[in-house]
Amino acid sequence: MRRDSVTLLEQAVGNSRRGMRLLPLAAAAILLTGGTSAAVMGSMAQGSVRLPEATGDRTAAAERPAPSAPDLQAELPARNAILAGAAGDVQGSRGARDVERRTLKVRPGDVLMGVLKRGGVAPEKAAGALKALRAVWDPRRLRPGQRITLRHRRPADGLSAPRFAGFSLEPERTTRLTVRRRPDGGFHARESRKKLEHRLVRRTGTIRTSLYAAASNADLPPAVLDALMTLYSYKVDFQRDLQPGDRFRVVYKQGLDDDGRICRNGPIIKARMVFSGEPMTAYRYKAPDGDTQYFNARGESVRTALKRTPVDGARISSDYGKRRHPIQGYTRMHTGVDFAVAPGTPIQAAGDGVIEEARWNGGYGRYVEIRHNADFDTAYAHMQRFADGIHPGRRVEQGEIIGYVGSTGRSTGPHLHYEIQKHDKAVNPLEVEMPAGRSLEGKALARFKRQRKAIEKRIARLTDDEGHTKVASRD
Ligand SMILES: [Zn+2]
Repeated sequence: MRRDSVTLLEQAVGNSRRGMRLLPLAAAAILLTGGTSAAVMGSMAQGSVRLPEATGDRTAAAERPAPSAPDLQAELPARNAILAGAAGDVQGSRGARDVERRTLKVRPGDVLMGVLKRGGVAPEKAAGALKALRAVWDPRRLRPGQRITLRHRRPADGLSAPRFAGFSLEPERTTRLTVRRRPDGGFHARESRKKLEHRLVRRTGTIRTSLYAAASNADLPPAVLDALMTLYSYKVDFQRDLQPGDRFRVVYKQGLDDDGRICRNGPIIKARMVFSGEPMTAYRYKAPDGDTQYFNARGESVRTALKRTPVDGARISSDYGKRRHPIQGYTRMHTGVDFAVAPGTPIQAAGDGVIEEARWNGGYGRYVEIRHNADFDTAYAHMQRFADGIHPGRRVEQGEIIGYVGSTGRSTGPHLHYEIQKHDKAVNPLEVEMPAGRSLEGKALARFKRQRKAIEKRIARLTDDEGHTKVASRD
């Protein structure tokens, strides 16, 4: 492609013809920062009646170090502990008769040794406990925000100081590590996995103002909303194509621990969205090799060969087509779509292919072009930088990060200029007929149909269409 000679008039903002029709400003802010989960969690906390202590959660959510946001309910105890611990670090003692328990929050930069010392554990005892732990878990995997529960045993005489008896932590929702002091003074560590009971949960919603509001009303966990948007991102542009009255129905797996605490939301096993009256259904299918994808009822992949939007959380700031230059007054063809996103946002390869160009390209600034097949190329301009290893000849997979959003070249603000070229001619990424993804055939198709039937059978047992009935199932 020859594009060096093309005069570029990049206008990152203010040229939106149709974008952001429906989403309110708050949602726009969410989209721009890409922080869907935390923000949705905040709004859900305020709207939900099922949460006992939902006030003040915005701050708690903001404090959380991990941006991947699981279910709010499951998070509450942890967050309250963090809040409570924020003042003095120590959550409090709630020991049995002879055991004192104290919970310490891991701070940024902490190592486990430091946390133990802060909890009053003598260095040689801490070293012994850590050595035992290392046999089952690498303490360098400790992350800020995790909590360590220390146990101290009170001596029978009630006079001498409590003795360090070990500690526990849950590096993930489903894993617990326990280090115990043995009678001989040594330490023993154990990793236990919580067995989760799974159930199917159905949530339905109708879009009135925004998808976020509908998801919040339907009590759809942020993780499931993210998965839903990813699932349909190949078919739909969520900023432009949503209309009031569009609907979703999602059936997803939920994992609960022994105490009935929600430990996991997802995966989605069936989703149905209706856009302007047109339903699109997707079933989860697990191939014999373990690869999991979503297909419609006919076994056609929900994914297309190329993504229409190669960045998450984007807002279209300038459409494809003729536009008038704001200062000079003449019209010029805009050969791509501009997505306004925060600088540094990862840019994904729209499809499998080979990097054809990765270089400085005049007004396009840092520029990458990918050849996908005999018909299609995609181009990405104004990058802040390329991702590691991105150079001509390198093979990339769909969704792989190729670079980061910037404002290099002739650009008035951070955005991604994205082009799809068919036979080396730019086409409108939002309207071009996408090459299809793979379809299941033969044995795989038969297998998919059996799985689909089994899914439908289980869903049929969920009777309440309002979406709050849960049917327990073990699998
Ligand atoms: Zn552009």
